[in-house]
Amino acid sequence: MIASLISFLDNMRLQTRISLLVFLGLIATLGLLTVVSLRVVEETTNEIVRERLVLAEVTASHIDTILNDVSLHLAALPNLASFDPNGGDLAQERQVMVHSYAEIGSYASSLIFLDTRGKLILSVPPKDLPVGSDLSSEPYFKEITNASEPNFSNAFLFSLTDKPAVAVTFAVKDGSGKLVSFLSALIYLDSSFLTGLLEPSTRLGRTGHADIVDGNNIVLASTSPVEILLPPHHPGFYRQMLAERKAAVKTTSGSDNYRQPDSRHVMAFVPLESAPWGIGLGASEEDTLAPVRRVQLQSGVLGLLSILVALVLAWFSTNRVVRPVETLIAASERMASGDLATPIKVRGGDEVGRLAAAFDEMRLKLQTAYHALTVEKSRYQGIFDYMADPVFTVDTSLRITSLNPAAERMIGYSNGEATGRYCRDFLHSRDEHAMTGCQSSCPLLPDTDWEKGSIISTEVVCSRQGNKVPVETARAPIYDDHGTLVGVVHVLRDISAQEELNQMKEQFLSNVSHELRSPLGFVKGYATTLLRKDAQWKEKTRQKFLREILHASDKLEHLVNELLDTSRMQAHTFTIECQATRIRPVIDAAVKWVKAQTNRHSFAVSLPPKLPLVLADPERTEQMLRNLLENAVKYSPNGGCINIAGLVEEGMVVISVSDLGIGIQEEQLEHIFERFHRANSRLAAHISGVGIGLSICRSIAEGQGGRIWVKSTYGKGSTFYFSVPLLKKLDESGML
Ligand code: ADP
Repeated sequence: MIASLISFLDNMRLQTRISLLVFLGLIATLGLLTVVSLRVVEETTNEIVRERLVLAEVTASHIDTILNDVSLHLAALPNLASFDPNGGDLAQERQVMVHSYAEIGSYASSLIFLDTRGKLILSVPPKDLPVGSDLSSEPYFKEITNASEPNFSNAFLFSLTDKPAVAVTFAVKDGSGKLVSFLSALIYLDSSFLTGLLEPSTRLGRTGHADIVDGNNIVLASTSPVEILLPPHHPGFYRQMLAERKAAVKTTSGSDNYRQPDSRHVMAFVPLESAPWGIGLGASEEDTLAPVRRVQLQSGVLGLLSILVALVLAWFSTNRVVRPVETLIAASERMASGDLATPIKVRGGDEVGRLAAAFDEMRLKLQTAYHALTVEKSRYQGIFDYMADPVFTVDTSLRITSLNPAAERMIGYSNGEATGRYCRDFLHSRDEHAMTGCQSSCPLLPDTDWEKGSIISTEVVCSRQGNKVPVETARAPIYDDHGTLVGVVHVLRDISAQEELNQMKEQFLSNVSHELRSPLGFVKGYATTLLRKDAQWKEKTRQKFLREILHASDKLEHLVNELLDTSRMQAHTFTIECQATRIRPVIDAAVKWVKAQTNRHSFAVSLPPKLPLVLADPERTEQMLRNLLENAVKYSPNGGCINIAGLVEEGMVVISVSDLGIGIQEEQLEHIFERFHRANSRLAAHISGVGIGLSICRSIAEGQGGRIWVKSTYGKGSTFYFSVPLLKKLDESGML
């Protein structure tokens, strides 16, 4: 429970959390204030109750004093006269009564002298009451006792005056203690005498009121508008109080005829000591507790106001703390998402300000490091992407994790397609019995010694399209920042060109040796024959042998010249000296030279009658023509006619040499002008050569500002063309 509460608090926004804590603190303070104010209210209430009781006691004491005064006067009268109804002249009694009435007349309405049977003997003032009236049936008379103390009656309606009244009666006794007569002081209740005694209740506020009730719970006097001789407004309260006859303060319900009939009243009751009556005074609870309510209201309003002010202050102060923290959080989120450029702005030298400054410094360092990292990464990425050699990396399970475009081209899979594949899917050993480098020299193998650097092995890459490319593979380990081996980088080098070159070199050497061997054999054979001492040769035979030797020497010279030209071409010292040249004699010379070497071929030269002069090196052009004608002869093993033609076309003289020989396969056409390249078709298999003639021809044709090309149909023959620029441009009629 507590743990979940703590986690709930932890998940709250900081400002909400602080505000909540401040709020709870305020609530606790308010609670404390409430307890204190309740205590104050209680004490104030007690004080009010005490005051009310004191007021009631003071009033009661005042009434007691007056009633005692009346009693004392009545009790003093028998000392001044006998008050014996049968005593004859009652002048003395009348005088005494008049005198006494003069003293207590402000309290008592009338003094009456009765015989023991209730017959009115005298009354003062005398006008009011007819002498001789029988008062024995008056309620108060019936209650009179023989006690020596004055009797206080309950309220009654005095029949002679038809007024409500109470009576204080004193039993007069003679010297032997025998009852002689009664002396009563009547107090009319419709006079303001008794009500006037209740005047202190007016201090109790708007609803303040006071009552004097008799022992029968009948109102003798009241400051509220109630009828005399009726029960009071709080009959239950008075009944209980009269029964208990002790001073007390109680809250009682209101009753009819009040302005707020349902309101509750706080009433104090004090029994009178002189009479069996009691006085009650009080006011509505609202009036009574008005000061308390004021205190409550004031403290409530004050409390609420202080909470409000404290809340506003708490909100602003937490805001000042939380806002910079939130700024920091936003900045850190920006940094996490890669924005290291935006500065962190938190002012102030407090803890948060210092934290923000440290954070900003960290951002700057990160930005610098990130920049350096980006540059470095870009550098490596550039190397990786633009490296001519294929490169790919694998993880420890030998699955590809990345590869560069060169590797994509070589294996035929894009980066996305290749990622996750095993390197063994396309990296194979050169022959099925050998192991791949992955099996023999991979850094991931347990006992590979990497201190010596990367290990190089030779494999074959089998591409998606089925091509096989021989490669040299260099492997190097990839470590993470803890030095743990996490993968291997493979750098492949396509060695197919190198292998092809080696093959070509070997082929070239074998071809050259073969080409050298046969004329050399001729030379050696004929020379040896001629030198034989045991043989005498006819001059004709000797001449024939010497011609053969010369022919073989020409061949050797031709071959050596071609080799020399090739090496000059490589050294860029191959020279072409162009001049105004007549092409026909050049063609004739070349045809003548070739004719001498074959008797199975015929030659047909068809040139326009007037071929314009060309800008060419005549010797090199003849060399080129000899080569083309020699090839036409060589690659037409079955003989046939060789056509040499010429025409003028677009500022050039184009010469063609056609044969009806073995022809050239279409895929070879683009390669035959390359150095050392020999078309290895079935038909050309037994025809020797070194593969440099056409490359020299191309150098000559292009060196003169023209070009060389071929059209051929395999098995049917070939036509080689070369163009030579005209010395001068022709006019529109085709003339110089
Ligand atoms: P080679 O010494 O092999 O003849 P060249 O450079 O003269 O070298 O010729 C290159 C290749 O071109 C030859 O190996 C041959 O396959 C092809 N070739 C050249 N001329 C002809 C031709 N007239 N007919 C068929 N093939 C030819």
